Formats: sequence, C-alpha cells, structure tokens
Amino acid sequence: SDHTLDYPKSPQHMDWNAHYPGAAPGKRPEFADIGCGFGGLSMTLAPLFPDSLILGMEIRVQVSQYVQDRITALRTANHGDPTAHYQNVSIVRANAMKFLPNYFAKASLSALFFLFPDPHFKARKHKARIISPTLLAEYAFILRPGGIVYTITDVKDLHDWMRTHLENFPLFDFVSEEQLRAEGKGDIVDAVYTSTEEGKKVERNKGEKWLACFRRIEVPRI
Ligand code: SAM
Repeated sequence: SDHTLDYPKSPQHMDWNAHYPGAAPGKRPEFADIGCGFGGLSMTLAPLFPDSLILGMEIRVQVSQYVQDRITALRTANHGDPTAHYQNVSIVRANAMKFLPNYFAKASLSALFFLFPDPHFKARKHKARIISPTLLAEYAFILRPGGIVYTITDVKDLHDWMRTHLENFPLFDFVSEEQLRAEGKGDIVDAVYTSTEEGKKVERNKGEKWLACFRRIEVPRI
C-alpha cells in the first residue's frame, strides 16, 4: 500500500537528473503517461520527441520494475544513436491518484495520457476512477494552458464518464481527433490508439476504441 511508496515532498525535491542522465540540468518531464502499465506509449513517444522528457507512472511493483528494465535495455541497445537514445523516458512507481502534484509543478506538462484506465464498473467503485472532479482540478493545475489530456478506452460507459466530467470542467475544452491531427499531433494520436499493450489486446479481440481529448484553456469557461 501507499506507506511503502516513496514520493517527493514537492516537485522541487524531485531529482530528475537521476531519471534522465542525458538531459540538461533543471529539465522536467513534459509528457506524463498515467497508469502506464507495460509502458508501450512512453517507449513509442521517446524517439518521436527526443527533446522532451516523458514519464510513465505505474502503481504495480512488478509492472513498474518491468518498465524500468525495458528502459535500461533500450538505452543499452541504442547507445550512441542520437535519434532513439531513450535517455528521455523514465518511470516512477507511484499512486497517481494521490501524489501527482508532488511530482509535477504547476503548468509544467504539455500532455497527460490516460490510456485504457481501469474501468471500475460498479457504481460504488466510480470514485476509484482516475477521472473525477477533484482530480481534474489537479490535472488542470499541472498542465500548461494549451496542454492536452488524451483519454482512450474500450469501455463505452467509462468513455461517457470521462468525456462528461472533462466537458463539464471549466478549464478543459473538447478537441477533436481531426483538430489534433491538423495541429501536427497525428503521431501522438496514432500512438494513443495503437502503442499500448492494452490497446493491442483490444485490437486482437476486435473491440472498439473510444478516444476523447481535451485542451487545457487559460481562461475558465462560464
Ligand atoms: N495504459 C496501459 C495500457 O494502455 O496498456 C495500462 C492500462 S491498465 C488497464 C491500467 C493500469 O493503471 C494498470 O497497470 C494499473 O496498475 C495502473 N493504475 C491503476 N491505478 C493507478 C494509480 N492510482 N496510479 C498509478 N497507476 C495506476
């Protein structure tokens, strides 16, 4: 449980250089892959955005260790390759529903990813969902204006839930897939659909995928 989890007192206490040895001092993560599972999205984004730092967050011990090992292996295998060095991707084992503001300073992120989050089907379990009014305030806080929240799920009910909560939150505007592609974010959208282990499983089972993305706006909607 959480008392065995190590987390920084505040973002200033986080030593990002230990996570990203190649990065300039003071550089902070810009993309956060929340509940990253086996890390497929983070690994796919890393060579696409060699100048941005990407952080996966995962609560399960073995799974986060697996991602750590995967990153170490990719760094070794691609040593010296300036286009795919994987020095810009890392993982922390963390409970993202409790400690996100301990890791990320205000307006420090340009993208937050919630890919195939646990659905928590039963109504009495809905408070365990990773998208909720309280948590949306935290997500808005750590995202910079213009930053994007990407969500995708194969569970229609969860999709409706995430979409409704985000749409009703005054600091987020819905942004269509077409719009994101027109802005040059097509590679990210493609990765959101296909790069994760859960997304691949949905494909194998011929399931549907529901995407919903939102932009952090500067001035609250009334
Ligand atoms: N995003 C990955 C994918 O698409 O393959 C994994 C999806 S999996 C269904 C959901 C993941 O979220 C699990 O690995 C789970 O351990 C993780 N998770 C659930 N609650 C979490 C929390 N509070 N903080 C961090 N990770 C969490």
